Amino acid sequence: MGKKNEENMIKTYLDYNATALIRPDVLSLVTQIMGEVGNASSVHGAGRHARKYIEDARRQVAALCNVTSEQIIFTSGATESINTALCGYRDKRILISAIEHPATIAAAPHADIIPVTSDGVIDMSAYKKMLNDGAPPALVSVMLVNSETGVIQPIVEMAKLAHDVGALFHTDAVQGAGRIDISMDKLNVDFMSLSAHKMAGPQGVGALITREGLQPVKFMLGGGQEQNYRAGTHNTAGIAGMGLAAELAAQHITDYTTLEKLRDDMEARMRNISNDIIIYGEQAPRVGNTSNIGLQDIPAQTQMMALDLDGIAVSSGSACSSGAFKPSHVLTAMGANKAEAKSALRISMGWATTPADIDRFLESWKKLVNREK
Ligand code: PLP
Repeated sequence: MGKKNEENMIKTYLDYNATALIRPDVLSLVTQIMGEVGNASSVHGAGRHARKYIEDARRQVAALCNVTSEQIIFTSGATESINTALCGYRDKRILISAIEHPATIAAAPHADIIPVTSDGVIDMSAYKKMLNDGAPPALVSVMLVNSETGVIQPIVEMAKLAHDVGALFHTDAVQGAGRIDISMDKLNVDFMSLSAHKMAGPQGVGALITREGLQPVKFMLGGGQEQNYRAGTHNTAGIAGMGLAAELAAQHITDYTTLEKLRDDMEARMRNISNDIIIYGEQAPRVGNTSNIGLQDIPAQTQMMALDLDGIAVSSGSACSSGAFKPSHVLTAMGANKAEAKSALRISMGWATTPADIDRFLESWKKLVNREK
C-alpha cells in the first residue's frame, strides 16, 4: 500500500527513512488527545488525565529500549535529544563518525572524525587508534543504523572500547528503533536518541534515554518538566503517539525479515535492469528496509523527478542547499566519487509497503533507465 495524498498524488511511498507513514491506531490516538484539554503539569483532573497519557507512553518507550521509565526524557525529536546528549561535552574531546546525521555533526563541531570502510561500517582499527592517541575522549557518538545506507554499526564493541578508556557512549538509534533490538543494556551505551516519526509515530517528538545513575546536561531551560531535565509544556498527544508507536514497533519487529526479502528481491531485479548499479553497503549488515543504489550515468535528481511524475516517493543521497545539490557526505566517506554519490537513490520501505509497491517502483525505474541510457 502506498500513501494516498490527493494533493501530491503519491501512490507509492518508499521514503520511510525520511518519515514513516503513521500507523492508523497512532493517528486515532493522537487525534483524540488533540481534542482534549489539560496541561500535564496542572494539578487538577484535566492535568492528571494528560499526565497519565505521558506516563503510559514512558512505560511503552521504556519497554522498547528495555530500561526503566525514569530513564526516559521526552524531547521534540532526535535533533534535540542529540543536542542535549552532546552539549555537555563541547569543550572536551568527542569522537563521532564520518557518516553521522547533520544534528550530530553540528552539535559536535570540533569532534574528531572516525572514518568508515567502503561498505559504510566504522573502520575499527582507525577507531581503536584514535581512542588511544593523545588524551582519551570524554564522549563517543556513533549512530546505530545509518539513515542513507541502512548499515548497522558495531555499537556493542565500540561502546566497550570507549568505556575501557573512560569515555561515555551516545548512539543515535533513530533508524534502528522497531527494526532491530535497541535494548540499552545489550547495546551497552550511556545515552540513546530516538525520534517517533521514524517508527510510524507523529513528527516533532522524541526521547533521550540515559543510563541509570547518569544525568544529562540541561539543554532546554525553563520550567521543571521531565524531572527538571527538559523544560517546556509536554506535547501530550505527540508523546502518547510515540508511546503507542513504540509498543507497535516492538510487536512488529519481525516484519523486517519479510521486508528484507522484498528489498533483496528488488535489488536483484534492479541489477537485471542495469548491471551497472552500485548497492551501497551491500556486503555489510543492513536493516531490512533500506536500499541505496548508485547509477553513475543518471543523476538522482533526474531519477527522482521521473519517479515523482509516476507518483512514487523515494529520496536521493544528495542534499539540496542554496539550489545546488551536494553529494552525500555518507557516500563520499565510503569512497564514492562525486558523480557516483550524486546518482544515488535511497529506497526505504516500512510497515505498509507491499510487493505491488515495489513492482510499481521497478516498472517506473526501468522506464527511466531505458530512456536515459
Ligand atoms: N538521526 C537520524 C539518523 C535521522 O535519520 C534523523 C532524521 O532524519 C535525525 C537524527 C533527526 O531526527 P528529527 O529530525 O526527528 O529530530
